[in-house]
Amino acid sequence: MEHLWAPWRLEYMKSADTQDECLFCAAAANPDDPARLVVHLGSHAVALLNKFPYASGHFMVAPVRHVGDYEELTDEEVLELHRFASAGMGGLAELYAPQGYNLGWNLGRIAGAGVVDHVHLHVVPRWAGDTNFMPVLADVKILPEHLEETRQKLRVAWPT
Ligand SMILES: [Zn+2]
Repeated sequence: MEHLWAPWRLEYMKSADTQDECLFCAAAANPDDPARLVVHLGSHAVALLNKFPYASGHFMVAPVRHVGDYEELTDEEVLELHRFASAGMGGLAELYAPQGYNLGWNLGRIAGAGVVDHVHLHVVPRWAGDTNFMPVLADVKILPEHLEETRQKLRVAWPT
């Protein structure tokens, strides 16, 4: 389990490096595009599913503003980021009843960030024994249909 936050998948990091657009800015600008995997958009923050999740329901929360420095987050952004993390966990609790969560900020490439210039918080639901059927180091196959289904469910379950 000590590896959970370090080894972001190589493919993901490669693709993040070669993309012209920022995936978080694109998500905030196109919240209704299923490909962006947005589950909730607010004034200061956006919540979206991770395209390469460690577990079902793995989502991320990012400020709407394109900002790469954690210390530059405004009070309004910090508040909504954490409110969205909390709300998303509320939705996941209703949908999948996780037994725990890992929340983490990967700041900088050395810390495993796939996107380094737009800070984001990962929320990964955990279940006892989950690494047995979905090893965090394995090349997990996630079907797009599965992600879209999770997205729809989480949008509905998002606490208001
Ligand atoms: Zn951005």
